[in-house]
Amino acid sequence: MSKLNAPVSAQTTPPSNTTVWHQQTASQLYQQYSVQPEQGLNLLQVAQARERYGANLLPAKQPVPAWRRLLRQFNNLLIYVLLVAALLAAVLAEYLDMAVILAVVLVNGIIGFIQEGQAEKALQSIGALLSSRARVLREGQTEQLNAAELVPGDIVILEAGDKVPADMRLLKVYNLQVQEASLTGESVAVEKHSEPLAAEVVLADRRNMAYSGTLVTQGRAVALVVATGSATELGRINRMLSEVVMLSTPLLQQMAQFARYLTMAVLGFALLVFVLGYLRDYSLNYLFMAVVSLVVAAIPEGLPTILTVALAIGVTRMAKRKAIIRRLPAVETLGAVSVICSDKTGTLTLNEMMVSQLALPGQQLTVSGSGYSPVGAITAAAGNDVADAELLSWLCRAALLCNDAQLIDAEAGRQIQGDPMEAALLVLAEKAELNRQQQVAEYPRHDEIPFDSAHKYMATLHSDHQGRGYIFIKGAPEAILAQCHSVFLPAGSEPASTALDTAYWQQQIEQIAAGGQRVLALAVKWLDSQQTVLNQQDLSGDIQLLGLVGLIDPPRPEAIAAIAACQQAGIKVKMITGDHAATASAIAVQLGLADAQRVLTGRELDELSEAQLADSIVHTAVFARTTPAHKLRLVTALQAQGDVVAMTGDGVNDAPALKRADVGIAMGRGGTEAAREASEMVLLDDNFATIAQAVAAGRNVYDNLKKAIAFLLPVNGGESLAIVLALLFALTLPIMPLQILWVNMVSSIGLALALAFEPPEPKLMQRRPRKVTEPLISGFVLWRILLVSGLFTLGIFAVFNWAIAQQLSIDYARTMAVNTLVAMEVWYLFSVRYMQGPSLSWQGIRGTQPVLIAVAIVFGLQLLFTYLPLLQQLFSTEALRFSHGLICVGIGVVVFIVLELEKWLSRRRS
Ligand code: ATP
Repeated sequence: MSKLNAPVSAQTTPPSNTTVWHQQTASQLYQQYSVQPEQGLNLLQVAQARERYGANLLPAKQPVPAWRRLLRQFNNLLIYVLLVAALLAAVLAEYLDMAVILAVVLVNGIIGFIQEGQAEKALQSIGALLSSRARVLREGQTEQLNAAELVPGDIVILEAGDKVPADMRLLKVYNLQVQEASLTGESVAVEKHSEPLAAEVVLADRRNMAYSGTLVTQGRAVALVVATGSATELGRINRMLSEVVMLSTPLLQQMAQFARYLTMAVLGFALLVFVLGYLRDYSLNYLFMAVVSLVVAAIPEGLPTILTVALAIGVTRMAKRKAIIRRLPAVETLGAVSVICSDKTGTLTLNEMMVSQLALPGQQLTVSGSGYSPVGAITAAAGNDVADAELLSWLCRAALLCNDAQLIDAEAGRQIQGDPMEAALLVLAEKAELNRQQQVAEYPRHDEIPFDSAHKYMATLHSDHQGRGYIFIKGAPEAILAQCHSVFLPAGSEPASTALDTAYWQQQIEQIAAGGQRVLALAVKWLDSQQTVLNQQDLSGDIQLLGLVGLIDPPRPEAIAAIAACQQAGIKVKMITGDHAATASAIAVQLGLADAQRVLTGRELDELSEAQLADSIVHTAVFARTTPAHKLRLVTALQAQGDVVAMTGDGVNDAPALKRADVGIAMGRGGTEAAREASEMVLLDDNFATIAQAVAAGRNVYDNLKKAIAFLLPVNGGESLAIVLALLFALTLPIMPLQILWVNMVSSIGLALALAFEPPEPKLMQRRPRKVTEPLISGFVLWRILLVSGLFTLGIFAVFNWAIAQQLSIDYARTMAVNTLVAMEVWYLFSVRYMQGPSLSWQGIRGTQPVLIAVAIVFGLQLLFTYLPLLQQLFSTEALRFSHGLICVGIGVVVFIVLELEKWLSRRRS
């Protein structure tokens, strides 16, 4: 495989055929792509490269052609049965019947085709919301771009959790590990470096390259894009990494299988009826009609389509509310969630941080201001002067230099890039009148140890121009204090220090955290000489504490309401945070979490046995100072107790817990690509309230599926029962096969579709979570199906026999029977909209727009069916007198009233 395809910048000469990226040095690469290391490409270069190489996209999967999708609609057992029926009709010279059956088959196929197309389109447009992003250096600024906009020559920053957005040569590497399973199949992450390699090194061993589609599991890197789109290795092997998957769920599969079994059983039964009838000397024509009627009546043709549509509507509704479902089965599971484990920062809180307190050796300071605005002052308590300006200045210097965020002053106001907490530290430095550019020039950074939620600190290595080196460390106070033995005290120009008073600092930490503030410690290590590489071992020895920083991060107001709603819905909410116990507990109280005071820390968790954990997890709502590994343990423990767990996560290390959770929820804004790929759902706004809404939507979808089933099955039940009874007692068939086909494929599907749009029932979020083991057709639903089937049968026979008794023709009586059946369906639709609650209310009678539209359409179609001469001929119907039409509707009303009574009785009983 030639590695050489692309010269890269528009102005440069293509590399010779013998050079390859992994062989080149960084400066060769910069030169070749005409890119400035600290600036990145300029916009002109980007435009030229874009013109030349196009967007960084893999060619879309070839869509299945429309004719194949249409044909697929006919590849279905029921259709085969109908085709055989049409054939039989032809053999018996019933050409009209044959034509109608074929027409219905065709119409049904077309409807299925259109609906499936719409559902698929809805899911595709949702998939587009999940495009990946990349951090790119252009014109001296780092910006977040859609990965599709990358061009060869771009300088990209990779961080733990990123999906590598294009093929790139690594230029600077900090502890970088990449998992390349999507390319090589190897699931163990490989360590990367930035040194040139020999020409013959094979793809899997090119440690200085990162390939599109692979995942950064650790560390950070700066890299140069060398190939995009289909020129990448991934593009070559042409493997699409698809985002949203399949249009099916376990439930749909179950129902499809149920429909298949039912079809088989009905066929067997029909055969039996045919044989028995033949032996009893029924005429062949009558038997044919009876058997075809039975087959057509008993099979719920529309069910799979309706269920697919209901799911697709649910998913689209969730997407509008910023919850993107990546795996469709999650819609069902969401409705059954009994515990939500949520991160704190950004999900329950606003993640708009501001430093509000500082603790220096011997002095506490307050910081005023609002948000990320640089306006504000640092003052000592009780109006005293800041005792030691130099102390403050070193603390702020560390905060500014050990920092990867950026503040961008745009016209629309101030924007931040990177971690909001780090941005808040930059604002602090501004308030202390430190100029960033000046500081960065004075103390250039040489190396770093990136932040990791397992060790909870980050460190950077700098030097000044007098030949001295500095390591700045910032992180969780416990992590920092454990490494410090002294406190920094500037004395004249020479650094000096005093011993660390642990008790004093502990008290400071507790005090700041108790106010719900996040506490961060900053420290420095002075090096006598300059060094350019920073290792873990360097973080020992004489590390001096600079002080503590307290940051406020207010709870999201909407999260408070959402937590209350969840608790009312019987869903427990647990906060799992990397933050300090006191901070977490204070925020939990503000949020109104039940049991907010009971906090377990990661360390305490480690000491609990499984049994002890199972015991205490029930009453603990706050888990603090946890690492991602704890999340996995908590999910497992909760699941062992029978809970259905939704768990949020953002980092690369959260992936195992997200995978394990019943519904893994990734953060769309602050989260990593790795977390997204492990999750079922992505929150575009990172907001807890969105989770609560998604759960409600999940319950709604499930309800609607149940309603569609409870609506459709009794229609089939009533029709088949009527035919079986007619056969058993040698009665005239009250409804003919073609008429049944009409009812099933036109009226029923039209009405059932309206159920897919049903809004949530009023008490949806006051019910307890559904048990996952609860079958869709529960005892209650089954009873309802049987009851309604019975009522429908009764209605059909009653009106048919009444008409015959009135000396009306058989065709007239059948027309009345069909119209009665449809009227009963329409009234039943109003009843089933509230499975248990009363439908006899203004809201219930008024219905929703889809319900009214469906009823109006079905009413119009029934008029055509009854009065249009062409349809009269096809379906052997006769025009009904107005008063007889009223009788049909009246029977529907009676059924409605009986069902309301039944609901009232069962409500009273429970
Ligand atoms: P939550 O889990 O509630 O979302 P979190 O994700 O911020 O909180 P972590 O990211 O695990 O939790 O952070 C844990 C602790 O690590 C923080 O409380 C803070 O003290 C420290 N910390 C977080 N980010 C940084 C950073 N960029 N540099 C240094 N220390 C950090």
